Amino acid sequence: MPITPMAETLAALRAKNCLRQLPRIHHDGRYISPTQSNPHTPTAAIALPSEAQRQLNLSSNDYLGLTSDTALRQDFMQQHALATLPLGATSSRLLTGNHTICTTLEETLAQLFGTEAALVFNSGYHANTGILPAVSDAQTLILADKLVHASIIDGIRLSTARCIRYRHNDLQQLERLLRTHAPNHRQVIVVTESIFSMDGDEADLHTLVQLKRIHPNVLLYVDEAHAFGVRGAHGLGCAEEASVIGEIDFLVGTFGKAIASVGAYVVCTDLIRQYLINKMRTLIFTTGLPPICQAWTLHVLRQLPQLQAKRQQLQRVSHLLRQELRARGIATPSQSHIVPIIVGQDAAAVQLSEALQRKGFYVLPVRPPTVPEGTSRLRVSLTASITEEEIQTLVGVITEALSHEAPKRPAGPDV
Ligand code: PMP
Repeated sequence: MPITPMAETLAALRAKNCLRQLPRIHHDGRYISPTQSNPHTPTAAIALPSEAQRQLNLSSNDYLGLTSDTALRQDFMQQHALATLPLGATSSRLLTGNHTICTTLEETLAQLFGTEAALVFNSGYHANTGILPAVSDAQTLILADKLVHASIIDGIRLSTARCIRYRHNDLQQLERLLRTHAPNHRQVIVVTESIFSMDGDEADLHTLVQLKRIHPNVLLYVDEAHAFGVRGAHGLGCAEEASVIGEIDFLVGTFGKAIASVGAYVVCTDLIRQYLINKMRTLIFTTGLPPICQAWTLHVLRQLPQLQAKRQQLQRVSHLLRQELRARGIATPSQSHIVPIIVGQDAAAVQLSEALQRKGFYVLPVRPPTVPEGTSRLRVSLTASITEEEIQTLVGVITEALSHEAPKRPAGPDV
């Protein structure tokens, strides 16, 4: 049989030990168990993982621990006439897919954020790949942080705008770029995340807002995927914490992480909302979210301001982990609940991950192309359901594993 280009590519990835695979895992609240047979498949020999195989899940984005909050789920099940809620929207929102629950969700978001409007999308990926191409043209310049998420990069690629990436969080370089280029473009869109997904550090929203004020043709686009639910007195994100919600033109967040649901939003002006409804292809040409999922999102959103104790616990364990690692000479760029340990080489990241998994911590390695070459890492993603004692044990395991010799064998696949 001839070797196709696809087979060649897969063989090359396999040879480099970089083949991506979907992990077979069993979820049990805060825990994950790697499993050979899928316990949800009736034909599989159902061998549920034993307690000994359970690992504390430190690789999810369930930052508030809401997926294992059974009281919250039961509350939802009781409050809603679930049987009457459709399980599918069955058409685009511009046809018959705009169910009442979606309007309520958007009104609730606008009210929470104190903005004129909100617009809900199917995912953060849809938001980032749809908004930027819709609002930019050939006279637009996009200035994007070097470390923005793949979905933003794809959105930039789909647009006809010119794009320059500035060094990560280097707002002095951004200022110089604005001074040079803003006068020659009809509009400039500055794009950043608030908490960066891979480094766990933060953008300086105050300075970004100041730069926007200096240049009247600048629009600010901030992706709060990793901050929504987690930061701010009401859980609205870093923009709430910095009191700059009203200064950000496109304030984007997702429901798939701390909110433990599915979908995404932008909070914005009425004008931007109206424009996106007319121009945004990833909103127009796709079926809306299932109403039942939107009802769950709404349920969590209504609780969000009251979840301050969970946010505080997350801050506590995050601070403790960063502090304990640094006290042992283990560097991390993190300023948040995402705590990467950058080891450089692929094999070192994989070996560290395996060592932690053997000790009951499910922490996955992240390697290029997800992160830049030479910055392979272990990405610890904390949740509010983790205790201080578990953090101390984790630090001990990491310290012990890092004290061993550099790995001599090639890396295994990552996510
Ligand atoms: N933005 C950022 C910064 C992300 O990290 C992600 C997902 N990892 C997304 C957007 C995409 O969000 P969603 O999973 O809702 O598509």
